[in-house]
Amino acid sequence: MEIAFTWIALAALLGIATGSLVNAFVLRAKRGLPLMSKNTCIRCVEPIAWFDCIPVLSYVALRGRCRKCSSAIEWQYPAVEIAISLLFALFAARITFGIGIPDFVDSSELWILFVRDAVISALLVVIFLYDFRFSVIPDKFSIPAVCAALVFNLLMGANPFAVFLGGLTIGAFFSVQFLVSQGRWIGGGDIRMGLLMGFLLGLPLGMVALFLSYVGGAFAGIILLVWKHRRIDSHVPFGTFLAGATVLTMIFGAGILEWYLGLIS
Ligand SMILES: [Zn+2]
Repeated sequence: MEIAFTWIALAALLGIATGSLVNAFVLRAKRGLPLMSKNTCIRCVEPIAWFDCIPVLSYVALRGRCRKCSSAIEWQYPAVEIAISLLFALFAARITFGIGIPDFVDSSELWILFVRDAVISALLVVIFLYDFRFSVIPDKFSIPAVCAALVFNLLMGANPFAVFLGGLTIGAFFSVQFLVSQGRWIGGGDIRMGLLMGFLLGLPLGMVALFLSYVGGAFAGIILLVWKHRRIDSHVPFGTFLAGATVLTMIFGAGILEWYLGLIS
């Protein structure tokens, strides 16, 4: 039991570190800075000392303000660090307690499952944020996620036919909408997200993720329409919902599917 909690705590720490890398990459890419540049304040452009870059703790200690010019630090920093840390802890808990493990994963391959889920969920958090804030799903984040889903699942011995059937079905579902609407309803980034969902989750669970993202998107659309008085065709960042639904399905998908099958039988 103690060993299990040690693993989960280590995974949470790894998640915080990954979160601060993700933050740095997303915000630097958006500001057009090289990915390896030094941390600087957005307002006063002063370099930030290492002791003010400690994930979550520095944000709390500085009460969300730059030490030099006291302009607000983006809320994204602590939010992403905490989110990825929670995700990594959940994935570690799942493998240590053996909950909802895909049937093609042997007990000797559980660490590969953790690496797969850690890599892909970190990329999905980036995609979630990017589409929400900047209305684009960059290929440099979606394509590595698609490749990781394919490679890790085949490596763990998933049935290649089932993997490709999942990816191509959901990919085709978006491709048809893309062609019919000539790219107005959805973009190429959504097609790559479809491939990811199918390759990663396979067919029944990929459909669960697809369903959750449409429900989430419709719900957000209604909220925008009713409370914010937006126009009916105003942009809803669909990639955000695809990414969020995929992460939820990675964690709760098996349970949701079981509940649904119990409901209809
Ligand atoms: Zn400053």
